[in-house]
Amino acid sequence: MELAKRITEIQPSVTLAISAMAKAMQNDGKDICSFSAGEPDFDTPAHIKAAAKQALDRGKTKYGAAAGEAPLREAIANKLQRDNNLNYDAANILVTNGGKHSLYNLMMTLINPSDEVIIPAPFWLSYPEMVKLAGGIPVIVATDSSTGYKITPDALNAAITPKTKLFILNSPSNPSGVVYTPAELQALAKVIVDRDILVVSDEIYEKIIYDGVEQVSIGALGADIFQRTIISNGFAKAYSMTGWRVGYLAAPVALIKAASALQGHSTSNVCTFAQYGAIAALEGSQDCVETMRQAFAMRRQVILDRLHEIPGLTCAKPDGAFYLFVNIGNTNLKSLEFCQQLLEQQQVAAIPGQPFGADDHIRISYATDLTTIEKGMDRLDKFIRSYL
Ligand code: GLU
Repeated sequence: MELAKRITEIQPSVTLAISAMAKAMQNDGKDICSFSAGEPDFDTPAHIKAAAKQALDRGKTKYGAAAGEAPLREAIANKLQRDNNLNYDAANILVTNGGKHSLYNLMMTLINPSDEVIIPAPFWLSYPEMVKLAGGIPVIVATDSSTGYKITPDALNAAITPKTKLFILNSPSNPSGVVYTPAELQALAKVIVDRDILVVSDEIYEKIIYDGVEQVSIGALGADIFQRTIISNGFAKAYSMTGWRVGYLAAPVALIKAASALQGHSTSNVCTFAQYGAIAALEGSQDCVETMRQAFAMRRQVILDRLHEIPGLTCAKPDGAFYLFVNIGNTNLKSLEFCQQLLEQQQVAAIPGQPFGADDHIRISYATDLTTIEKGMDRLDKFIRSYL
């Protein structure tokens, strides 16, 4: 059977594949330390689950509007105003099957064949694949430690061509954990406005930041950049709702209408009662978000201290998200080989950097409990010492 060209040109999601493999091995009784998916280990807060259960009991089990339940679109618009200083109405919001789906819908709605999309590396591995699925061309811009793994305004400017449509900004970043400062965002915004391109700001990790760094949305930096900004976000990371699949896109109304039409012919509405859980997440107490953030902050310190004791590995301190992006260059192993051998020899699951655009790195998620962190780092230490 000949498959469509578009699907033969993409790679399966390595984050999902390795996480599924680690879970399957655990279910088979193997003692696996999984640092794979970016999935908080906390249960979804009780008040969010209660709201979804009540919605089920109230009969919120039917088809809904493809763009999302009206009260949720309203609650998201209010959240964007309150938390991010972004002036949106409910009509600017599309509720999607998770943050990933909001980005996929965006690419399908915006990108024409051979349009270019600028992606700073290291990047979340699904970005280039989504661009390719839409027929676009991912333009990868390398970054390195000299700029703190951030794209500079000059590098962005140099990558723009007449075919450039969109720039993907992810702050806090998966996998590097870097958070752009307001001044850095302002400088990038100037390039975006001057060169008249669009930016999608993936803000899925906005609540997971450390040491008092400031999280600012690029769209809030002025009227000109606001018009050129699309926001992608979701409930998975901040509220530990990974399996619920609720995310959203915020953008000018014309784009939201077009993306809703796409959704109307593909997924239809997001699971109706799940959307009521999402309303409770936004409108209820935010203490749960802070409690989880503090736990991640503590784990970050523990895992960094342990990593720094392991010879040959280096890693910058992340300002946000819950990943360490570890340089494994001293082992002379490619990242896929490294992760395969680490899993086989020490039963530790980590994600290779290769699909993130950095083959001399691996990604370690510390959205897991301290016992797993301690045990997994003991094993990583043993693994590395056998190579050096
Ligand atoms: N975004 C998370 C990660 O990078 C979840 C898995 C995925 O969707 O890629 O681990």
